Parts: sequence; C-alpha cells; structure tokens
Amino acid sequence: MSAERTNTCLVIGAGMSGLLAANKLQEAGWAVTILDKGRGVGGRMATRRFDGASFDHGAQFFTARSDEFKGMVADWQEAGAAREWSRGFADAEGNPNEDGHPRYRGAEGMTSVPKHLARGLDVRTGEKVVRVDEDGGTWRLETESGTQATAGALIVTAPVPQALEIVGSGEYELPGPALEQLEGVSYDPCLALMALLDGPSGVPEPGGVQIKGEPLDWIGDNGLKGISRAPAVTIHAGPQWSREHYEDDEAEITAALLGFAGEFVGSNVVSTQLARWRYSWVSEPHPEPFLLAQSDPALVFCGDSFAQPKVEGASLSGLAAAGALLGEG
Ligand SMILES: Cc1cc2nc3c(=O)[nH]c(=O)nc-3n(C[C@H](O)[C@H](O)[C@H](O)COP(=O)(O)OP(=O)(O)OC[C@H]3O[C@@H](n4cnc5c(N)ncnc54)[C@H](O)[C@@H]3O)c2cc1C
Repeated sequence: MSAERTNTCLVIGAGMSGLLAANKLQEAGWAVTILDKGRGVGGRMATRRFDGASFDHGAQFFTARSDEFKGMVADWQEAGAAREWSRGFADAEGNPNEDGHPRYRGAEGMTSVPKHLARGLDVRTGEKVVRVDEDGGTWRLETESGTQATAGALIVTAPVPQALEIVGSGEYELPGPALEQLEGVSYDPCLALMALLDGPSGVPEPGGVQIKGEPLDWIGDNGLKGISRAPAVTIHAGPQWSREHYEDDEAEITAALLGFAGEFVGSNVVSTQLARWRYSWVSEPHPEPFLLAQSDPALVFCGDSFAQPKVEGASLSGLAAAGALLGEG
C-alpha cells in the first residue's frame, strides 16, 4: 500500500451514518473527506426555513434503545445539540398516548445534531458524486462540479439504490455477491407537506399526531415542538399513498394532504412547500450493520438500511463501518 493512500478515506454522504463514520476514523488518525450533494449536512435529518417558519420535514424525532446510542444522545444533549421532546405523541384520534420512553429532537430542528457532528470534519457540501473508479488500488471520485478526490478507502452511505448507481457510474464493477445482496434492499417513499398557518394548529401537545397508517403517517406542529416561532405543520403521507401519488402535481398532493389532516390543521394555510422523499423508510433491510464489498482498496456500504433502521440504526451502522476499516472485530 503506498504511503499516500494509507489511512485515507472518502465518505459519500453527510447524514448521520457518514458523519459518525468520519468522526470515528478521524479520531483514529485517518484523513477523511466527506462529499455530499446537499446544500447542508444532515441528509434525511432535514430542517427547512421559509416565510419566517421552520419545518423538520424528514425525520421528526428519534429514540435511543441501545446503551451505545443512549450515551451518544446524552453527549449531544450536553453539547446543546439535542433535547428531549416528549414521552409519546397523540394517537390518530388526537388522544394522548405516552409510554414513558423519551423522544428526542435537534435543539433548533433536526439538523442541529448533524451540524454538531460535522464540526471539525472536512465536509464538502454541494458536491454530487457522479463517477467512481478504482485505479491501482486507489478510489478516484469525481463530482458534478468537476472536483476530483482520491483515497485508499471508500464509505458509501447514500440510500442503497442511489449507492449502487453511484458506484456503478464509472469503469468499476462491484463484486457479484455484494451487488446481489445490495439489490435486495428497498425503501418506501414519503410525500412531506410543510404548511405555514395564520394561527394555532389543531395538533395537541406535545406537538405530534402519530397515525402510522394510510393515507397519513404523521402530523407535527413545529411551533409546539419548539423549533418554529410561526405556527407551522409538517404532514407525512403514508408509504402506500406516497407511492401511488409520488408523481402527482404538487397542487393536487397539497390539497389532498391538507384535506386528510382536517381539523389538525386548525387555522388558515398561508403558504406551503412539498418535499418528495423517494427513499424515506427502509422496507427491506440488509441484515448486517455494514457491507464490506471488498477489502483492497476497501469499499464499505452503510446507513439506515443496514441491520437497524431510523436515526439510531444509521448512527450505529456508520460507527460499525468505520470499525471495519479500523480492523475492529
Ligand atoms: C420523511 C421521513 C421521516 C422520517 N422519520 C423518522 C423518525 O421520526 N425517526 C427516525 O429515527 N428516523 C426517521 N426517518 C429516517 C431517518 O431520517 C434516517 O433513517 C436517517 O436519517 C438516515 O441516515 P443515513 O446517514 O443512513 O442516510 P441519509 O441521511 O439519507 O444520508 C445520505 C446522504 O448521502 C447524500 N448523497 C446521496 N447521493 C449522493 C451523491 N451522488 N453524491 C454525494 N452525496 C450523496 C445525501 O445527500 C445524504 O445527505 C425519516 C426519514 C424520512 C425521509
């Protein structure tokens, strides 16, 4: 292995998995660069601001089950990046439904946590990777803007269907067994409507209606949540409705989702924006926390579709991917 590629790594994606993998490698003395196509960091931990309101439109909250993740969340709370939001949300009828388990949020929106994790890392946003090649034992990446980057190891954290497209974009061919396993991973889409209101919403305290059904999955009040000064709701359609209406006209989707949310909207709608998440929730995961597709030069896939879903799963998967490069058992 030549000196310049020893302990160097490129990470595609600055979501939870990519940021945590990069932090772990950097702490171990590696030189790491993260490339992300987004305007900011966070991926599906996403907060959008418009017309004086703030909306979390991807992940709404997160839970912590493992001791490892509980410890990380405690650190983020201490650093002021995360807060406990509630111990449960209203059910589909709007009745309280607390179960005693903490639900956490980013301090100023979900992006507060990835922003905190990105401090001290070399993160290049606005850099969409469009070509991946392996050349003499080194990974060579090219982005849409023409930036080129090389390293001895590569971690890919984009949702798996996108990851396969990226890795297959150049001359490189993924080994057959890895390709076969990754082709089995799938996601549900989610249509997410953000609506600024002229008065209070009908969402009860603490600011969420967890429906988990069709046509709606969730209605969140970003004001009650404590991240928006203006009254602002986020409405998530269920996976089936999202799939069936994914390509519909924005005005039609907006009208339908506001109609489904009914009295939970509670006030007049001032303005709206729609986010179309093609890959939101994992429907068919990979059973292990990461996939080492090859070891020289190393290529690792990780993210929320590996072993465990959601924010906790993505975080633990990123750490496991870095651990694989560090030779941890
Ligand atoms: C609508 C919605 C609601 C959700 N609700 C919850 C919830 O309430 N609780 C919960 O725990 N989880 C929730 N989730 C899931 C949670 O957001 C994810 O599991 C987690 O954030 C995934 O992190 P990740 O690092 O695996 O992937 P991502 O956050 O998707 O990060 C991957 C990154 O790769 C980047 N990328 C992709 N292609 C390229 C390219 N070609 N070049 C450069 N960069 C690229 C993307 O920009 C992205 O930043 C929700 C997700 C959605 C979409």
